[in-house]
Amino acid sequence: MLELDSQPGIETLGLSLANGKAALAQLQARIVTRQVELMSASQRRCELCGLNRDLKDYHDVHYRSLFGGVVVRVPRWQRCACSPEFDTDSALCLSLATEPVGKGVGNPVPVAQ
Ligand SMILES: [Zn+2]
Repeated sequence: MLELDSQPGIETLGLSLANGKAALAQLQARIVTRQVELMSASQRRCELCGLNRDLKDYHDVHYRSLFGGVVVRVPRWQRCACSPEFDTDSALCLSLATEPVGKGVGNPVPVAQ
C-alpha cells in the first residue's frame, strides 16, 4: 500500500517515481494473477468429454514482466479418465515458462470486476 503525504508541498504532490513504479508492480501482480486464474480455469475442462478434471497440484511460476517479477500459483489438472493418453495438465506452466520477458502471458484476458 502506498503511503501518501497528507500535507504535500508542490515538489511532493502526486506520485513519486518510486511510488509510481511500486504501484505499477502491484497492479501488474494482480492482473497477472487474475489472468492466470482465468487461463487455468479454462484449461480445467476436458476437451473430449467436457467434464472438469481434478486438481493434481500447484506450481509456483516465476513470471518476469516489464514491471517486475510476479510469482503465480498455477494449478495442474489431472488427466481425464476418458483419455489417459491426453495430457495437458502442465500446458499452462509450460507456456508461462517459455514466454519471453515482458511479452505477457498470452492473449489478453478481460479482468473480472
Ligand atoms: Zn474427459
